[in-house]
Amino acid sequence: MAEQLQDKIAVVTGASRGIGRGIALELASRGAAVVVNYQKNADAANTLVSEIEGAGGKALAVQADVSTEEGANALIKTAVDTYGKIDILVNNAGTTRDNVIMLMGVEDFDAVINTNLRSTWLCSKAAVRAMMRKRYGRIINITSISGIVGNGGQTNYSASKAGIIGLTKALAREVSSRNVTVNAVAPGFVLTDLTANLPEDIAKKLNENIPLGRWGSIEDVAKATAFLATDDASYITGHVLVVDGGLAM
Ligand code: NAP
Repeated sequence: MAEQLQDKIAVVTGASRGIGRGIALELASRGAAVVVNYQKNADAANTLVSEIEGAGGKALAVQADVSTEEGANALIKTAVDTYGKIDILVNNAGTTRDNVIMLMGVEDFDAVINTNLRSTWLCSKAAVRAMMRKRYGRIINITSISGIVGNGGQTNYSASKAGIIGLTKALAREVSSRNVTVNAVAPGFVLTDLTANLPEDIAKKLNENIPLGRWGSIEDVAKATAFLATDDASYITGHVLVVDGGLAM
């Protein structure tokens, strides 16, 4: 599979940990050079870069807060300045600040919308010009089934993830004439730092409701994302690929 993404340049936001890390590894294993974005965790990002390089791949760690215009622009500029182009953008950086709406502060709403939705818009805006010029691009936005079915205690998160789905479809229409595809991946429950402190009884109950009987793995999501970056998916755009063991059907 290494040749699938040979000579492709990929940027993965929030790639120091969790699902983003898994996506970076998967894209690199298929031959892409990967820009590993992180916000705070430089050690984890540098360890990932060493791991990719150790396996014979190319990677670069870039610190940027992608919820800000300066951060998103600087990230994409660094990728283009370093490698001359950007073929694949995975908007993965995300966060949660769960609470029922009556107890949720405006700052919790804004922080989640900015980290999840604003960052996706900003990075896509920054990358699209370079992609359209080359008449090639793959933008893959990591949403969630919470943005499809809604999740109590997550009005901020569900709104941000539903917004990402709308953004994906609108942008897919805008850029399709230049061979740029825009798709989304909607994971169900995957064990990462984001979900690690879910109470055990809730986690167990969730398991019972998942038709395939288990939480998703980081690799499940990474492989679905990598598929959308390959030529095998060249006729797919504006699609939301649900990777949830059947939970949201
Ligand atoms: P995670 O383990 O908490 O990792 C979050 C990553 O995002 C980290 O690399 C973090 O960087 C980065 N990040 C956060 N804010 C950022 C910012 N402003 N700028 C740049 N990077 C930032 O989360 P995860 O579970 O892997 O989630 C990844 C994505 O999948 C998110 O969009 C999430 O909503 C989505 N998702 C997850 C699940 C799940 O069950 N885990 C389900 C559905 C969807 P630092 O390490 O530097 O802090």
